[in-house]
Formats: sequence, structure tokens, C-alpha cells
Amino acid sequence: DADVPRPVLDVIARLRELGHAVFLVGGCVRDTLRGVHPKDFDVATSALPEEVQRAFRKVIPTGIQHGTVTVVVGGTHVEVTTFRSESEYHDGRRPSAVTFEQDIVKDLSRRDFTINAMAWNPLSHELVDPFGGQEDLKARVVRCVGSAIERFSEDGLRPLRAVRFAAVLDFRLDPGTQAAIPATLPIFRKVAHERVREEFVKLLLSKRAEFGLELLAETGLLEVFLPELALADAEAARLARAAAAAEPVDVEIRLAALLADLVDSQRAEEIGVRLKFPTKTIERVRLLISHASLERHVGDSEPALRRLLAKVGLANVEALTSVARARIQAREPARLPELELLFGRLQALAASKPPLSGKDLALNGGAIMATLGVGPSPIVGEATRFLLDQVLDEPSRNEPETLKELLRRWQQARGS
Ligand code: ATP
Ligand code: MG
Repeated sequence: DADVPRPVLDVIARLRELGHAVFLVGGCVRDTLRGVHPKDFDVATSALPEEVQRAFRKVIPTGIQHGTVTVVVGGTHVEVTTFRSESEYHDGRRPSAVTFEQDIVKDLSRRDFTINAMAWNPLSHELVDPFGGQEDLKARVVRCVGSAIERFSEDGLRPLRAVRFAAVLDFRLDPGTQAAIPATLPIFRKVAHERVREEFVKLLLSKRAEFGLELLAETGLLEVFLPELALADAEAARLARAAAAAEPVDVEIRLAALLADLVDSQRAEEIGVRLKFPTKTIERVRLLISHASLERHVGDSEPALRRLLAKVGLANVEALTSVARARIQAREPARLPELELLFGRLQALAASKPPLSGKDLALNGGAIMATLGVGPSPIVGEATRFLLDQVLDEPSRNEPETLKELLRRWQQARGS
């Protein structure tokens, strides 16, 4: 038995008291059975949405037309969805009609995989498993509920979900389920990019990202939404997949590591836009990719490394290091020791917070004008760049008196 949160148990108890059938369903049942604490607990019931609304003091009609109501109990949100079946699918995208049902088995039949199609009542301890979900959990297999071809044709996202679950859970695809993917790719093509991206990100952040990416390539799914990787030469693609398992687990780091040696930062941006990633993610991946080849800086002097830091920004050093480490680990592990040395130097430099931009200078604009004896003019910008260059070479110069002296000599040398 899992430790189901109190508010969830309360909701189940209340609906039961009113005579409705009620179960925990989907991911939380799967995760509990495999000994993992569920992220969230979804409740399904025979009660109609209006009946659920009436049964509790505080409810939010989250997706009432699909039968979902959020019950608020002691500050906790519990999603309660009426048993339903989905008939006509539109274009392999979204069900166009939802029918409420009284029978939990009908609800479980519309679900994607046997391991996701179990229901459990933590009060009565009843487990409903009509499709052999427990057996597949034990065998570590992702298998469609019913005919894989039919299920993949109804909703084109499902093949990608199958591969995503295999990667996240470290499972295999049932052979029949896998075999159905190529035939249903035309339906996968029509799926909204946001839905594809959501599943792809979960795969990329999983423990078996490399395996997941390989399975995406094998099944033909990858060519549909990431042809840049799918059509790369075999060795380049293998290295990219290996690099994508970068640590720490982070979307931006993993995306950058995956794409850095395949595409330039411009192309990476196009991919991000196409898959509707948030702008912030796209910008960060772009930056990480444009400086990913840190190995080029192995022999750099300290001033050169400070100039690199000035370009990439102190906040990005860690992430950049992670991307470079993953790439080199995949391609040239023998070079890792010299790279770790470079990473150490960069981290130490970053930690010393050296002056890297005009606003870090010990002289502000006013002081620079006073020293030069000028008012606002383009020469102030020039002088700032000169001083920044001086402190990037030697940060200990960043003292007002030292900078004033340097400035006066600079002014003299310019003969003005
Ligand atoms: P996770 O822990 O990754 O959230 P999950 O099993 O909760 O896993 P969700 O995507 O949150 O996955 O979906 C919840 C449940 O809804 C699934 O377990 C499955 O039963 C059902 N489901 C979700 N998407 C589909 C789909 N496209 N087709 C059929 N059933 C689906
Ligand atoms: Mg979920």
C-alpha cells in the first residue's frame, strides 16, 4: 500500500459514502505498484461532474466539459474525473466527443497502455486490472490496450508516449506495439507541436534519454519532428544521443548537448521555435550552443578566459561546462582530464567575480569625464572600453587611483 495523501483519501471516502464508484487511476497506480512515490494522484469516479461539484464545499470546474473537477480540501487540489469513454477522434488529435460512463472498465479501455490502465481503491483495496497491467509492469513492457494500430490511429501522440514511457521507466516496447508505429506515422505527423514537445522533454529528461532517442530513431518518430538528428550520419547521431544524457538533468543543458555538434545556433533556434519551446529556453540553448566548444580554450591565458567569461556571462559557466563535459565524454574521453583542468580554471575565475563589464569598473562615467576633463561625448565610451581591456588583462588594476593614472596616460598617448 502507498501512502496516499489524506485529502485524496477524504475525497475518495466522501464519494464512496454517497454510493459512487471511485478509484485512483493511471500513473499513480502504476508508480505505487512499482514502488515509486507518485507525483500526483488522479481520482476517477462514476459520479457525474455536477454530482462531484455538489459533494464538496470548494470545487473548481477545471475541465468540466471533459468531466474533470478540482476538489480543494485543506488547501490541496485533488483532480476528480468522471469515468468516460472517447468515441470519435478528430484527425488523430483530440477526441471530439466524450461520453460519461458508469463502469470503470470502460474508462480503463480508453487509456493508452496496460500499465496506465489500472484502477485501485485504497479504502477497499480493490485493484482493477483488466488488461494485464501488473504482468506487463513485472515484465517491464509498454503495451497498448487493445490493437496498437487502432489506438495509435485514434491519437497520433500515443506512439511517442510509448517511447517516452519506455525511456522514463526503463522498459521495452512490446514487439506488436513497436511494429505498429511506422504504419501510423502519418497520424503522428498531424499532432500539435506542443504535445510532441511535452513528451519529448520528458524523454530527454529521463534516466534512459540515450536509449529513448535511439528508439525514436528506430521507429521513425524522430524523423517527423527532429529530422536534423534523424538524418545526420550514423556516427554523428550516435555521439549526439550519448551527449544528450548530460548531467545535471536540465532541458536546456540536454538540448544543447544533443544539438551542439549537429547544428549551429541559428538552426537550433529554428528547431526551438518549430517545437514551440518557451523563448527563454530557446535563448539559453542558443547561447550554450554558440560557446559549446570549450575545448578550444584549453591553452588559453587567464586574460583570454576572462574575456570568454565576459562574453558568456558568469551565470552560464556551470551550464556551459556541463554541455562541454557531456560532448567530450561522448567523443574524446581521453581529453577529459585536460578539460576538467580548464573547467576548474573557469569555475575559479568565475568564483573570484572579476570585473567583466563597464559597470564593474571602479570608475563610473562621471569619474571618467572628470579625469579626462570632458563632458558627455563618444570619448567616454572609448575610455570605458580601454579601461575594461586593462582590467580584463589584470583585475587588480580595478582601483580608482590606478584607473585614473591609466586614463591620464591613455589621454596623453592619444595626444588630446
Ligand atoms: P506521468 O507520471 O509522466 O505524469 P501519467 O501516467 O500520469 O505519467 P499522464 O500523461 O499524466 O501520464 O496521463 C495520465 C493518464 O491518462 C495516463 O496514465 C493514461 O491512463 C491516460 N492518458 C494520458 N494521455 C493519454 C492518451 N494520449 N491516450 C490515452 N490515454 C492517455
Ligand atoms: Mg500524470
